[in-house]
Amino acid sequence: MRRIGLLGGMSWESSVEYERLINTEVRRRLGGSASADLVVRSYNFAVIQELQEADRWDDAGALLAADALRLIANGAELIALCTNTMHRVAPAIERAIDVPFIHIADATTAAIHGAAVSTVGLLGTRYTMEHEFYRGRLERGGIDVVIPGDDDRAVVHDTIFDELVRGVISEGSRSEFLRVVDALVDRGAEGIVAGCTEIELLVGPDDVGIPYFPTTALHAGAIVDASLA
Ligand code: GLU
Repeated sequence: MRRIGLLGGMSWESSVEYERLINTEVRRRLGGSASADLVVRSYNFAVIQELQEADRWDDAGALLAADALRLIANGAELIALCTNTMHRVAPAIERAIDVPFIHIADATTAAIHGAAVSTVGLLGTRYTMEHEFYRGRLERGGIDVVIPGDDDRAVVHDTIFDELVRGVISEGSRSEFLRVVDALVDRGAEGIVAGCTEIELLVGPDDVGIPYFPTTALHAGAIVDASLA
């Protein structure tokens, strides 16, 4: 088993899910009392959010890259970043390290191909929905991506930052997300990417009537695959 280095706390609400999913999957595959071999750097998310809002992505990349190296110094043999949004600075981390980096969009792309879906609706933070780093990676994998209209992007983004990263799960927001999903289906989406690691705390596969791609669970599976390869 290769030791896994997790850059988490973005937010911790989803990072605890990563740890639970990774450990559960390792136990399922290896049996007995086996669990994952982990080193974790969990950030104060307020600091990360400040860097995002100040458009200080280079500083965020330098911070994450330095901490990835610290995880490696503590024995990590692969690195994973427990957030979609901060994959905007994944290249800075990948340049700094000499162990595999398990990219969340690649795990998602593989699952979309596996479900034979060609057009997905993408939900996430504004950064993830609007910028090239994420949807471009899906598109280069041959997947068409539709994103919500401007007002609905604001609803999704604000719900993530005002509720989900703060541990607030509300029925009203679940209904709003499902309304946004319906609008994406009307525009051709055959599947929905929960492209923010907290969204699956609010909306599960049973809530959505079409193929659903929960990035935390998909990423956790890819991380275990790499650890046990
Ligand atoms: N965890 C979220 C994501 O997957 C949002 C929090 C962040 O900005 O990192 O994008």
